[in-house]
Amino acid sequence: MNELVIPSPAKINLFLKVVGRRPDGYHEIITLLSRVSLFDTVSLSFDQPSISVDCSHPGVPEDRSNLAHQAASLFFNALSIRDGVAIFIDKVIPVAAGLGGGSSNAAAVLMGLNQRYGFPFSDGELMEIALKVGADVPFFLFKHAAVARGIGDDLEVYGDLPPFFVVLVCPGFEVSTDWVYRNLNLGLTNCEKNLKNCHLKDFSKIKGILCNDLEQVTIEKFPVIKTIKRGLLDLGAEIALMSGSGPSVFGLFKDAQQAAKAIHSIIRLRRRQKGRWDISLVELLLS
Ligand code: ATP
Repeated sequence: MNELVIPSPAKINLFLKVVGRRPDGYHEIITLLSRVSLFDTVSLSFDQPSISVDCSHPGVPEDRSNLAHQAASLFFNALSIRDGVAIFIDKVIPVAAGLGGGSSNAAAVLMGLNQRYGFPFSDGELMEIALKVGADVPFFLFKHAAVARGIGDDLEVYGDLPPFFVVLVCPGFEVSTDWVYRNLNLGLTNCEKNLKNCHLKDFSKIKGILCNDLEQVTIEKFPVIKTIKRGLLDLGAEIALMSGSGPSVFGLFKDAQQAAKAIHSIIRLRRRQKGRWDISLVELLLS
């Protein structure tokens, strides 16, 4: 078998509190993460002279700055071999949208290479390689909804998420995560409570405190995010929030029919707003 095809899902942040800024510039956060059923497809072709990346999205770099390329390079370094792999990424997940597409692609490459090379690394060792690529990458190896702390890499299983239907709205422009953190005013963060004290047992109890500290920055520049959030709440979403640094917004619905109805209304809202939004109905991937 000279090829492997690996589905590479998006994630959403159901809660994101910025706790503080470390001396090295990284922000410490507490976030509740779940993968969702919106997938890129990562294909690996083996026995190649070097690492290469080919991505269907013209805006995604194909050089060493691609996170999938970095993952492969770190994997081979950790194995102390000079090998190659051709990586093809069929992009479905909107880019720079707060949905973790690049990190997910990197995790897919690590999983694929570990399988191909006969599982030389344990789950924990693969997570350590993943963390060198980026703070969000270990989560995509974790395979559970999780609360992440630290810079996002200290993961704890979150077992109480209901199987929500998710209306995902991506407003069609990119937002740089760096830019959002650079413009964040820690004095104005509004997520007063955090998940630590609620002790994660009961989703119905934490539902009321779900918020995203990064919204203050992204919404100020792109007020359409607030319009989409309000639209989703008016349509009966239990929760509507921006994911990560945005601009994607999700609404969580208990009922599939209600979510489907919401999709129709959001399509009408898009027409009125003359937006170029991607709108999808997906599910949480809980295990
Ligand atoms: P972040 O992880 O920074 O929060 P995001 O989830 O909002 O990012 P991504 O789709 O991962 O968004 O893209 C962020 C940036 O990473 C893009 O601008 C892109 O140039 C770069 N990038 C590197 N590798 C990839 C990849 N495999 N897929 C998508 N973007 C990538």
